[in-house]
Amino acid sequence: MPIRPENRDRYPRDWPDISRRIRFDRAGGRCECEGECGRHTHSGRCPNLHGEPAYGTGSRVILTTAHLNHTPEDCDPENLRAMCQGCHLHYDREHHAETARRTRESSLGLVSLFEEPR
Ligand SMILES: [Zn+2]
Ligand SMILES: [Zn+2]
Repeated sequence: MPIRPENRDRYPRDWPDISRRIRFDRAGGRCECEGECGRHTHSGRCPNLHGEPAYGTGSRVILTTAHLNHTPEDCDPENLRAMCQGCHLHYDREHHAETARRTRESSLGLVSLFEEPR
């Protein structure tokens, strides 16, 4: 998953090295998802290998590194999973929905703060 611009400052300077160690030294280039993504399309560990055709779609797998707690500062290996783009996107989807909801709520809150009483 591309690093979102608003989060770029939150990643440590050596993130590319950390990410590479997780994806290749630890995971051996294979998605480490064992169902955390919740998409229920693979049982056991996801078979997708970096650079190989993805199961189901056949598009080229790009291995990414996911933060299980969605906190980019937390680069403890326990918090990191090598994930193919399919697993990663699905894993993040609920989190993104939650973030969007909170953003909407806080902007609604702002609007009502600044609105003149009728
Ligand atoms: Zn996967
Ligand atoms: Zn998965």
